[in-house]
Amino acid sequence: MHDHGVDDKYVSEISVDPGPGGTVAVYLVETATDEDTRSLRKLFDELKPHINVAQLSRGRLVSYAVQTQDPTILDELERVLKSNYAFVVMQRSFDPVIYRVVKELCADTGSKLLSIPHCNICGRPDPFPDTVITLADDNGEQMMSRCYCSTCTASLMDRTNKDFVLSLLSADRHDFGSLDRSKLVRSRARSHYLRYKIRSSAG
Ligand SMILES: [Zn+2]
Repeated sequence: MHDHGVDDKYVSEISVDPGPGGTVAVYLVETATDEDTRSLRKLFDELKPHINVAQLSRGRLVSYAVQTQDPTILDELERVLKSNYAFVVMQRSFDPVIYRVVKELCADTGSKLLSIPHCNICGRPDPFPDTVITLADDNGEQMMSRCYCSTCTASLMDRTNKDFVLSLLSADRHDFGSLDRSKLVRSRARSHYLRYKIRSSAG
């Protein structure tokens, strides 16, 4: 067994899903009352059908990362926040620097930093990973999900999709045993962008 309890012998399916892509923005808002917190949550909840929302912190410092195909929403959101709250910081991208600012402000204000995905290759925090790989067993039951940032995804984009999937897994910090040397067989999937069945390399 490996550290996360996934034994590659039982992985029988690998699915690959690209993130939706789009412009990312981060909003940091200082709240003064519970009412502030509630109306902020309502605002971002209402946006969820139109944009991807990842909450980064809660408490006095409420922060969100959002991703959208329609950047005009980001300006509108900034306008609404700035007209309702005294302290609003907005950045038109997510990077380790803004994440460190969120962390520090959380510590200063006693707010809670919420967990977000980190790239399983370089370790960089990324609320909207570029690629997500899901490992499933014989019954299609999900065993583990791995995510990769845009930089790592781009650096491993390979000649074929199969090579790409295997290079991600072999660059992953997790030891997948012989899984990254398995033979992958393309399988039909309506639910995923790409799906492969694993044929044992020994067989
Ligand atoms: Zn990465």
